Amino acid sequence: MLVHDLIGIGFGPSNIALAIALEEARPAAPATKSLFIEQQPGFAWHPDMMLGDAHMQIAFLKDLATLRNPTSRYTFVNYLHEKQRLQDFINLKTFYPSRHEFSDYFAWAASRFAEQVAYGESVVDVRPEVRGDNVELLRIRSRDQAGRFSERLTRNLVLSIGGTPRIPPVFQHCASDDRVFHTHHYLRSIQANAHATRIALIGGGQSAAEIFLDLHGRANAPQVDLIMRARALKPADSSPYVNEVFNSEFVDHVFSQPAEARDAMLAEFRHTNYACPDPALIDQIFKIFYEQRVRGDARHQFLRRHDVIRARAAEDGVHLTLFDQNTSREVTQRYDAVVLATGYERVSHRTMLAGLAPYSEGFEVDRGYRLKTVNGFKPAVYLQGSNEPTHGLSDTLLSVTSVRGGEIAEGVLAAVRAGRTF
Ligand code: NAP
Repeated sequence: MLVHDLIGIGFGPSNIALAIALEEARPAAPATKSLFIEQQPGFAWHPDMMLGDAHMQIAFLKDLATLRNPTSRYTFVNYLHEKQRLQDFINLKTFYPSRHEFSDYFAWAASRFAEQVAYGESVVDVRPEVRGDNVELLRIRSRDQAGRFSERLTRNLVLSIGGTPRIPPVFQHCASDDRVFHTHHYLRSIQANAHATRIALIGGGQSAAEIFLDLHGRANAPQVDLIMRARALKPADSSPYVNEVFNSEFVDHVFSQPAEARDAMLAEFRHTNYACPDPALIDQIFKIFYEQRVRGDARHQFLRRHDVIRARAAEDGVHLTLFDQNTSREVTQRYDAVVLATGYERVSHRTMLAGLAPYSEGFEVDRGYRLKTVNGFKPAVYLQGSNEPTHGLSDTLLSVTSVRGGEIAEGVLAAVRAGRTF
């Protein structure tokens, strides 16, 4: 069986950036036998959050290549040039393209690597290939959309599988009810719930803000209860000194700190990324509620400092029991649909790599994103996007994607240069 130099799981921005870095290392570096396995049938980047007016929250210069190699042909600027929109984009006078355009940029870059990607295959497990006393290789098993299984061997594995929707415990028993859905599935689920006129929207981050405005503008004019446990919608802080936490060099600083100091930094800068809508969206939401008051209308409610303590799916709707932290009162309300804008978790690598648990040190990675493993375990396993506790807030974002892709490419190429001896 062919042994790959590299198998990547997922072909979103992180692994595209890695593929670019590997390509750009040539001809000085050797060619690698690489394959990326992506469960979606073709490239797609958060397709169910492609809302009409949504734009990027990260400057376009933090694209797939610029910070690592500004002369790359894979920069956003070169994409604009090839699409003959560069001058018009300049006239937009923005650092923040629409999400639709950035998604098209990612798809454009992904299409250059089509022959290296197995689309429509889900990885079901990763097993150690034991030879003698050592684990020499990894065996990756995947299933395609027709249910057929494939097995492949590799010396290096890079997991870039993104986050999984966070479903609060109180909603877990409703997870299969089509009327209760996470923002990750928003557009397709709201279409399936097009008749819904009373909607609960849980959360106070960027997703909640974008969806509130989307629901507000829908033709059937649904009533939306925006429910969050915090006291106020707090804006994302993207001022220049604060934004330094997303610089690629800052990763070294974070990684060099003891665990308690890293935790303290994550807490201190949490509102650069989590539960922090764009200030312009907060202004729009405030205005909607203000105008409601002017008209004496009560279409939407903004329920702050409210916890959802019970959820019951019944024939006539989803009944939520809310606890008001201000009054300590409980109230139960009926909704046609519930949208969970409750963010993402980054733990699915543990499930996917469960077969390697005996060989790893609690799924910890080193500075170069490589899983720490026991002696005798020879393959290299890299994790992208699940290292926030050790590498800082930029780990889940595009901010360091191009530089990190280059760092991982160097590790992979060093192994390939070493003669593929493992
Ligand atoms: P988020 O920022 O993690 O916010 C999650 C929200 O859900 C918070 O308000 C949190 O409240 C609440 N929450 C979490 N668990 C809860 C629970 N058990 N009960 C009640 N509330 C709960 O998630 P997000 O808004 O989806 O954003 C995630 C990432 O995607 C961010 O990096 C964001 O910038 C990005 N994003 C970008 C765009 C764009 O580029 N246009 C669009 C959407 C999202 P607490 O604060 O109380 O925990």
